[in-house]
Amino acid sequence: MTRSMALAFFLPALFLTTSLAQNPAPQKEPSRFLIRAGRLIDPKGGRVLQDQGVKVVGNRIEAIGPYNQVANPADKSFSLIDLSKATVLPGLIDAHTHVLLQGDITQEEYDEQILKESTPFRTIRATVAARIAVNNGFTAIRDLETEGAMYADVDVKRAINRGIIPGPRMFCATRAFAPTGMYPVMGYSWELKMPEGVQIVDGPDNIRKAVREQVKYGADWIKFYSDRRYYIKDGALHSKVNFTPEELQAMVGESHRLDRKVAAHAMGKEGITAALDAGADTIEHGDGLDEELMDRMIKKGVYWCPTIYVGVWVADGRGKLWQDMRDLEAKAFGLAVKKGVKIAYGTDAGGYPWTENQAKEFAYMVKYGMTTMQAIQSATTVAAELLDAQADIGTIEAGKFADIVAVAGDPLADITELEKVKFVMKNGEIIKNEMK
Ligand SMILES: [Zn+2]
Repeated sequence: MTRSMALAFFLPALFLTTSLAQNPAPQKEPSRFLIRAGRLIDPKGGRVLQDQGVKVVGNRIEAIGPYNQVANPADKSFSLIDLSKATVLPGLIDAHTHVLLQGDITQEEYDEQILKESTPFRTIRATVAARIAVNNGFTAIRDLETEGAMYADVDVKRAINRGIIPGPRMFCATRAFAPTGMYPVMGYSWELKMPEGVQIVDGPDNIRKAVREQVKYGADWIKFYSDRRYYIKDGALHSKVNFTPEELQAMVGESHRLDRKVAAHAMGKEGITAALDAGADTIEHGDGLDEELMDRMIKKGVYWCPTIYVGVWVADGRGKLWQDMRDLEAKAFGLAVKKGVKIAYGTDAGGYPWTENQAKEFAYMVKYGMTTMQAIQSATTVAAELLDAQADIGTIEAGKFADIVAVAGDPLADITELEKVKFVMKNGEIIKNEMK
């Protein structure tokens, strides 16, 4: 038998075992739940509905409406979940996390994780981060790079999707890009070959290949670091741009060609400008946004993930510049809300420890100028659109995934209620219920 014939015989068998391995559980009857919601927040309509019924069959919402219309007392096939004293809302979405990071105010704390912790050890910790996220009501996250842990985010996602561990739906960026010399680990002897916190890439061809590689290994998003070396001049935040325009065109062009959207870490005016010029889809952090840049974002439909809380968390430990950035972002945020920039909820959880509830971002958004409803929309409808997943998540509507959370009080009156999520259903499964 020739070599090619042997391959031809071998390949179908390989596909067969792979497809079987992905569906190990035998088919079982889909679960059927009827949720009675005392109050239900509809972020799409910007309204609150009273005494609603939500029917869940398997992992999808089958029907929603006034409880008395949806509930059929003769039909005993649905298990009742009584949330009549609670406020029910769509599962929350955090569009900027790092499950493979555990907080890094200082360079030493970052290096400690990269240099002393193996990728398996960090991945074990990531499974805990994923469990914390979903328990806090975040049923979907966009995880924006592994900080040197290669493609371990894709493994965490796979373990969640196979039901091995609890966790949110994950949209993974894998390794992120920066050019030589523009990302830690840095500052060690040149005689040492140090690990990198990102995938280091230089030159358009190298970058195109690297995009293809990340997509091959499971990247849902491409992330790059647009700038570094931040400084304040005339009261505005500036930065040095990392990549040349040719490099960025290659990166964004190849990503879009492969149907992957691009997230740009961009903090200073120059970094944000370069990212927008190149066609990035989301601006991460964006502390240095000014009115002109906001207008460009609105025109191009680019989203902003401000990640306020991490900026507050690290500011005092990193000195004056980071304190200034924190304060500039507060001002930019208020203006962006007034102008109508699409602001998606993103926390940078992992940039601060996972023991801090990532719902703390909400209180800052409200303090800086959003209504409580706008803050909830940022973590539901707006974040779902950023992910191009609005057909499946972001609202409680018939046909969508049953990703549903509840709190005891009224988050529209007090947004910090969202730091105390009492009920979580993800994909039709009850993750926790403290409302019983
Ligand atoms: Zn981040």
